[in-house]
Amino acid sequence: MNPTGSFKDRGMVMAVAAALERGATSLLCASTGNTAASAAAYAALAGVTCGVILPAGQVAHGKLAQALTYGARVIPVQGSFDDALTLTQEAVQHTGAELVNSVNPLRLAGQRTAAYEICDVLGGAPDILALPVGNAGNITAYWEGFQAYRQAGRIASLPMMWGFQAEGAAPLVRGETVVSPETVATAIRIGRPARGDQALAAARESGGAIRAVSDEEILAAYEAVASLEGVMCEPASAAPLAGLRRRAAEGEDLSERVVVAVLTGNGLKDPATALSRAHVPEPIPASLGCVLEALA
Ligand SMILES: *Cc1c(COP(=O)(O)O)cnc(C)c1O
Repeated sequence: MNPTGSFKDRGMVMAVAAALERGATSLLCASTGNTAASAAAYAALAGVTCGVILPAGQVAHGKLAQALTYGARVIPVQGSFDDALTLTQEAVQHTGAELVNSVNPLRLAGQRTAAYEICDVLGGAPDILALPVGNAGNITAYWEGFQAYRQAGRIASLPMMWGFQAEGAAPLVRGETVVSPETVATAIRIGRPARGDQALAAARESGGAIRAVSDEEILAAYEAVASLEGVMCEPASAAPLAGLRRRAAEGEDLSERVVVAVLTGNGLKDPATALSRAHVPEPIPASLGCVLEALA
């Protein structure tokens, strides 16, 4: 159900349950926003404390509002997400808090269930699974999930894993760390993915690839899925749609393929991006004449 509006809940519920079994009383994570919202919500429910270390000024407002309202201790740092993750990993050594980033294997165990669910709904594996890639935990989890399902005899084939990064934050495409990652898709604004090697292995082993798409392509796909389908996702979630459109435009024939692109986060988390793209109309006098004129 992803009650905080992103897939992070699938993994967070597992990581927090395991932390409680071990007797943990506090959680800590670095986050571009959604991990913080999710950790804060499950910490609130479980009655444990939660600290979230965020890249200052780079978190969509809905996510910040969630973390604050769920009652997490929010710590913005003057640095990137990658700096925040390094600091978080160091801080857990000092505080004994439970690290709930996707370097925690329980996060991936939970996120694998999305692969099972897709196969159950389709009655088999898709031909292609397209995902946005940031810290690269999710693509790693899906690939593990599809492999586990095949080993269990639930599916006969495996999909190709197609990951998409934003051009300004594409370390796995460029083959090197991006020191100052930049993109409108803040959820994937990451320059040194913790599970980068595993993501590259998933792409290679599955016959897939990790590619980059521009912010313009991301925003065009973001507007298209909203205006054509009535689904408002957050910008990062539109990266795989943008990537599929680009691959189709480059001549890749997807017409006979079963393709799944996962919309990873709810568009309401980032109203600023939506409003910066839209024309917000000026108010008119409250009269029927003016309303009819505006409708004409
Ligand atoms: C976290 C996140 C991603 C990226 O997932 P990774 O596991 O970091 O690769 C993509 N989209 C949204 C909305 C996210 O919150």
